[in-house]
Amino acid sequence: MGGFSYILIFAVLIIGAIVWGLKRKKTISVSDFWQEKESEYSEKRILSSFARYLGGHARFETTTEGLLFLMSKSLWFENFEKGANIFGFAFPFEKVIFRIPLSRIGQTKTIPEKELISQGILHPSMNVRRVNRKPEYLSVSYIDEWGREKELFFDSMVDLSQWHQAIKTALDNYVPDVEEEKIGVCPKCGKKVSPDFKLCPYCGCRLS
Ligand SMILES: [Zn+2]
Repeated sequence: MGGFSYILIFAVLIIGAIVWGLKRKKTISVSDFWQEKESEYSEKRILSSFARYLGGHARFETTTEGLLFLMSKSLWFENFEKGANIFGFAFPFEKVIFRIPLSRIGQTKTIPEKELISQGILHPSMNVRRVNRKPEYLSVSYIDEWGREKELFFDSMVDLSQWHQAIKTALDNYVPDVEEEKIGVCPKCGKKVSPDFKLCPYCGCRLS
């Protein structure tokens, strides 16, 4: 076989890998995503932004990028698997999804970068990857399912004053609902589950 044959075989392999990789890429419609969320809990979307979750939730310790969104009854964070690249390789992925009912949310604050680093929540090297234009981060205080006071930290693309205003308005308009306070969300599949359950009835994920 001549050199040309090798090049031909190599080219066919590369094209095959690319086609296979492209086929594996799944697309999710943005409007479907919001419709599903709005209908599942019958609430409306108020504000959403690309954001980095930095920590604070008892179940999720690692920093991850995703969507932070405020609905009329709750505040959510969800990350998404980037999927395989064009060659079909995917990196290990941990799904992070949580929904905090507004009834559990207290105050929100703007934390300067220096303070977050000195508290050990933000690694000093992370500031180069900051998504906010300003060196400041969003803090949301809330009471978790076990009655503990918690503080969540986010790096948000949207100006933090917008978050403070939107959350304050949502809290002012929120009508407490006994059923609502009992609702939990599965960290793996995102379905509505009671926090009393040990396993998710939809996907079998351990909840406690
Ligand atoms: Zn599940």
